[in-house]
Amino acid sequence: MVSPVGAIPADVDAAALREKYRQERDRRLLAAGTNQYNFVDGEFAHFNDDPHAGLLAQRDPITKDLDVLIVGAGLGGLKAGRTLTKAGIDDFLIVDWAGDFGGVWYWNRYPGIRCDVESYIYLPYLEELGYMPTERYVRGREIFDYCRLLARRFGLYERALLQTKITGMRWDEETSRWIVTTSRGDELRAKFVTTQSGIFDRPQLPAIPGIGDFRGKIFHSARWDYNYTGGDQTGGLTKLRDKRVGVIGTGATGLQIIPQLAQDAQQLVVFQRTPTAVGIRDNGPTDLTWYGSLPAGWQQTRVDSFNQIGNGENVECDIDDGWARFFRRLIDAEATIPPVQRTPEAVAAAKEQADFEYNEIVRARVDQQVNDPQKAALLKAYYRTQCKRPGFSDEYLPAMDRESVQLVDVSAGVEQITADGLLAGGVKYELDCIIFATGFELGTTWSHKAGYEVVGSDGILASEKFSRDMPTYHGLFSVGFPNLFFLGLTQTGTTTNVPHMLQEQVDHVTYIVGRALREGFTRVEATPIAEAQWQDEIAAVNALRRPFQEACTPGYFNAEGQINDARSGIGSGVYRPSTEFFKMWREWREAGDFEGLTVS
Ligand code: NDP
Repeated sequence: MVSPVGAIPADVDAAALREKYRQERDRRLLAAGTNQYNFVDGEFAHFNDDPHAGLLAQRDPITKDLDVLIVGAGLGGLKAGRTLTKAGIDDFLIVDWAGDFGGVWYWNRYPGIRCDVESYIYLPYLEELGYMPTERYVRGREIFDYCRLLARRFGLYERALLQTKITGMRWDEETSRWIVTTSRGDELRAKFVTTQSGIFDRPQLPAIPGIGDFRGKIFHSARWDYNYTGGDQTGGLTKLRDKRVGVIGTGATGLQIIPQLAQDAQQLVVFQRTPTAVGIRDNGPTDLTWYGSLPAGWQQTRVDSFNQIGNGENVECDIDDGWARFFRRLIDAEATIPPVQRTPEAVAAAKEQADFEYNEIVRARVDQQVNDPQKAALLKAYYRTQCKRPGFSDEYLPAMDRESVQLVDVSAGVEQITADGLLAGGVKYELDCIIFATGFELGTTWSHKAGYEVVGSDGILASEKFSRDMPTYHGLFSVGFPNLFFLGLTQTGTTTNVPHMLQEQVDHVTYIVGRALREGFTRVEATPIAEAQWQDEIAAVNALRRPFQEACTPGYFNAEGQINDARSGIGSGVYRPSTEFFKMWREWREAGDFEGLTVS
């Protein structure tokens, strides 16, 4: 076993760490949970403006009947477009309010942005396109360009309605179609609709009083303003050389932005609520010889192997990065228990110990890279690895150690934003610019994230059905919403490598739509009994995961610590392990009898 920075510490005091983790969680728990955030509605709507699109391209409204409407032109929409086309289904449109393909890679263009799993498994269809990512973890710009290349190669621009927002969706029983309206006056009458609203889509801001009072520059990381900062994704933010910049948020995004800001800002103040555990990244250019030697079919094997390792299967695979090393640590821990003693409790205890050891090493890395002892103490993460998305960076900790970078612990929150800065812990910080790296709206209802109403059969409203939780069958279907597929993170098999999950979902959708169109089914809907049984299964999985989630520091994985808040379905409704889930779907398709669905 390769450790990130050296030998495994032999003397981990599990009881003391468990107690420390509990204390660290408790001081961050807020009764408001997800309601502690402002979303980009009303007075905050301008935080969601598109800085990239330029003028709205003029076009006439479209009225059209079509087989499939794909909502979202990110990787899910691209994959849906390509997979449907490959299956011979080409009467579809893709709608997105962004000005181009790319989804999160269209919106997020902040300095330092890169993918955080290997690009060899993140970027789809590499073999088909004959494309070699330039680096192991490529920059956002390369991913965005690659998305555009895919759209060109698969003929998707001709089928795209960009800069177009869905305004409503209504099921028409008579024609068995969804009548979809848009901000451009379109009326699209689709036999089937796929939606994936809400994954890392809408920025969220902390509900700190006074946001509107700030007279300097203020923006969210997903809407970066290079006119103000200068430079581009590779850095060179030279216009900040005389600026005092504050960043709120130290999650996966903060980790990538902060080293860039630290290089150029006159002064950088980082307001940290919870530190991220920062493992080794070890990025580098792609080895041409290695890449050229990969056998046909390598990418799917690599994608599957990564997911298998993440789900505890000890498969042979040469992925040796921070993710795989952590997952292998858990696999090894389980393997040390003799088979007859391998009870769920024994496995959980072994994994907890392995996690403690891993994090001791990650915390030791902070001491190796940060000379300032006060900063080092604040930068150590005390929670289980899978409570939050773990971080990997070789630049973040040295950047935090710079003298021009001030680290402020705001575990009690920032009190107030004023005209010229902000107040935290009773101290005033004067700033020229405030950047929110505070993540995305994930904890609200599906309808709030989607931003439009869906009226299903018999007038059922998505906003009502999904007001407290999001009941589905297999995450994809929901009773009352025939021919509508909910792609995303809810009650489904999830993967660390998100595009893998999306491909499994669009494969399933394509199978169902393909059969429906070929065999003349006009209506496909989950049965109430199948949905109810799925809820029972989800509840059972949740009950098993509950002690882990309860012990976690707050975040979007556990509804900000309010684990009874099931509105988003994320973290409180995800089926595991995804390897089993995807196998179940393959067998479901092979059986071919649409179990759990009524087709007519
Ligand atoms: P996160 O939600 O992960 O992090 C938000 C950060 O803002 C946290 O540090 C959070 O602290 C902090 N925060 C929120 N409210 C406050 C407040 N009131 N005061 C101070 N700090 C606050 O968002 P990210 O944008 O970092 O990442 C979101 C997801 O996007 C990731 O989990 C990952 O899946 C994805 N991502 C992927 C990347 C890739 O390369 N593929 C790169 C970047 C993101 P706290 O933890 O205490 O809540």
